[in-house]
Amino acid sequence: MANDSTSVIIVGGGLSGTLTAINLLRYTVQQRVSITLLNPTPALGRGLAYRDHDNNDLLLNVPAGNMSAFANAPSHFVEFCQRIDPSVSAGSFMPRRCYGDYLEHCLTDAMAAHPGRLHTTVAEVCEVRALSETKGFKVKLSSGQYLTAQHVVLALGHQLPRFPIPLGPMERDLIIDAWDFERMNRLPSGVPILILGTGHTAVDVLLHLSQRVRPSAVWMASRRGLLPAAHRLNLPPAPVVLSPDAFGESPLRTRDLMHRLRREVARQIRRGLDWRDVLNQLRSHTPQLWQGMPLAERQRFLRHAVPFWDIHRHRLAPLAAERLQSLLAAGTVEVLAARLLAVRKTRHDRLALEFKPRGQTPTQALSVAAIINCTGPSMAIGPDSQPLLQQLTRDRLMAPDPCGLGLNVNDRHQLTNAQGNAIAGLWYVGPMLKARYWEAIAAPELRVHAQQLAQDLAMQMAAHSMSSPLPGTINPALMPG
Ligand SMILES: Cc1cc2nc3c(=O)[nH]c(=O)nc-3n(C[C@H](O)[C@H](O)[C@H](O)COP(=O)(O)OP(=O)(O)OC[C@H]3O[C@@H](n4cnc5c(N)ncnc54)[C@H](O)[C@@H]3O)c2cc1C
Repeated sequence: MANDSTSVIIVGGGLSGTLTAINLLRYTVQQRVSITLLNPTPALGRGLAYRDHDNNDLLLNVPAGNMSAFANAPSHFVEFCQRIDPSVSAGSFMPRRCYGDYLEHCLTDAMAAHPGRLHTTVAEVCEVRALSETKGFKVKLSSGQYLTAQHVVLALGHQLPRFPIPLGPMERDLIIDAWDFERMNRLPSGVPILILGTGHTAVDVLLHLSQRVRPSAVWMASRRGLLPAAHRLNLPPAPVVLSPDAFGESPLRTRDLMHRLRREVARQIRRGLDWRDVLNQLRSHTPQLWQGMPLAERQRFLRHAVPFWDIHRHRLAPLAAERLQSLLAAGTVEVLAARLLAVRKTRHDRLALEFKPRGQTPTQALSVAAIINCTGPSMAIGPDSQPLLQQLTRDRLMAPDPCGLGLNVNDRHQLTNAQGNAIAGLWYVGPMLKARYWEAIAAPELRVHAQQLAQDLAMQMAAHSMSSPLPGTINPALMPG
């Protein structure tokens, strides 16, 4: 058993963990804190979204001008791209793998500027346990090794989508996860396929299948059958000045929020603006609105409003939208508004599917060779979450969000327990911030969270020794078992 004592361990080297590491290097120059970044593969900055083996047709869904790793240097990513292709502008939609190259480049630069202070290790963490007294945390790796650190930042990213109905082992063989392009590439051409989901990922998968696999037929199904709207091509956002008051005061009801949003969109359209500008501007106010909604209203929003919210808020790059439209026009794909009721594997290695079409009584049957599960990353923490999340929940070092949107943190990104007390030394950044902020899963928001977390953590390390936790935080080692 190796026993290495470091000050900060960051678990997960996707966008969130990588940007936290870079910011932490900058904020701790004086303290010379040692930082360790752990990731199961050597590919840092890439995570699930920006992998280098994905094809170049998978485009960012945010224009380059809003994808800088640093909110205070908005043209940083555009300048990186222009060194490769001078025609790139702030309105360009770049390949996702290019964004991974960029994040890797940012990390390499930061490590060169702060030599010897950031250690990157290929490792998967399976447990984080509080040490007795105030000594921090013991981190167990799946290799069986242990590390210790005073602070642990969890940047674990996305969980895979869950399948909406129970499956037997026979059926499971023919279900493919949304981002498993290698398995998709092994599908024979000329077979019928179901893409479960009609959001962003489903469109990515459709475009990939139609180029690489050439199925005989493709269905895309979700309860409402709504497809994402498109971004405009190369248009700078028009100045819309919105006030969160336009959407009501807390406690805010879902019905009022959606009503006022529609009214504001109509008002701005009358002024010659575009609905997208309203949604873009709303983005910075969304956390405040979300926090003004009582739990029952948040749950109502999730039940009724999310499909409409998502297709307008998470838009497709114009080129992806154009490709989708031509596949729809050619009849290569059919979109179903229907709920999947049953899946059964047949003797001919097919899946017999039963659907309940929206608003209709008779069920609909389909036969497909495979289902690609594109129902969106699961945010809920439960029995099928990774062992680390289950152990942290069992040890009461974190509390799952009651809406199933991730985990609870305070306004400093410290994990909190069920009573809302911060766990001293344990931090979180990543898409599960959705539970607290709703608008938190994309790069423009995560870069700010990573920076704020690094700043708070650096200040805390400078100001406090672990023997005197901040007021309002609890020492996990002293919690009842
Ligand atoms: C397919 C896809 C496309 C997207 N496209 C865009 C886009 O165009 N624009 C945009 O702004 N946002 C986009 N997003 C949103 C995305 O959430 C963020 O941009 C960002 O990638 C999230 O990064 P992350 O580091 O939090 O998570 P991830 O990218 O999931 O990275 C988490 C990392 O932690 C590692 N890890 C997990 N568990 C452990 C463990 N136990 N031990 C060690 N390491 C662990 C994982 O292996 C992974 O490397 C996209 C998301 C997806 C899924």
